[in-house]
Amino acid sequence: MRVLLISDLHANLPATQAVLADADAAGWDQVLVLGDLVGYGADPAEVIDAVRALSNATVIRGNHDKVASGIESPIDFNFVARQAAEWTAATLDADRARYLRELPRGPLALAVDGLDVAICHGAPFDEDYYIFDADDAAHALAASQAAITFCGHTHVQIAFREARAAGRPAVTPVDAERIDAGPGARILVNPGSVGQPRDGDPRAAYAVLDTAERIVTMHRVPYDIADAQRRIRDAGLHPSLAERLSVGR
Ligand code: ZN
Repeated sequence: MRVLLISDLHANLPATQAVLADADAAGWDQVLVLGDLVGYGADPAEVIDAVRALSNATVIRGNHDKVASGIESPIDFNFVARQAAEWTAATLDADRARYLRELPRGPLALAVDGLDVAICHGAPFDEDYYIFDADDAAHALAASQAAITFCGHTHVQIAFREARAAGRPAVTPVDAERIDAGPGARILVNPGSVGQPRDGDPRAAYAVLDTAERIVTMHRVPYDIADAQRRIRDAGLHPSLAERLSVGR
């Protein structure tokens, strides 16, 4: 069974469409969405609708979903993010705002084709925590029971593997496009960001879990960045939100 992992779409419609077209071409059975459907980008309603239209989907909320739907104040956001969150809140109709507000908080523990999987936006112990390095990943894996834990939030496509050395867990980054989760090993995977990559690769990011093989593959898809940038400028959002898409930062 092929499970699609998407995160941090951030109201980027061209990137969302490119990822779904790429994933559809290879086929998939189930989709897990790790939050931040909105914020930064110019098409929050269209991206929410695209996610709602997915069959066999499990969706959790991200920090931008909370702020845009009024669950949390934007007090911890920088000026540009706050401005975008306020624009998003003003743009969304009541139905879509309610959809965001009612999204469940991570972590969620799921049995996916018999495999124990956990999904969270930031970390299993705190939905808003950023996991950047192996120390953070070790902390996250210690808080998760799952064989495979997925998180988003950093907009960096990255994976870590936990193996046992002399009875103690050791967590290291995995520099590969195919991450093997078994047997005996546990992994933590961030599929990267669909709508605003920050790992230096401007292409849209996602991942696919093959449950039979216990393998996660990382994917990058080119999309019409100029179109997304035009939409951001036309919406009157901060120009830096358009510019950063070119460089993936
Ligand atoms: Zn995000």
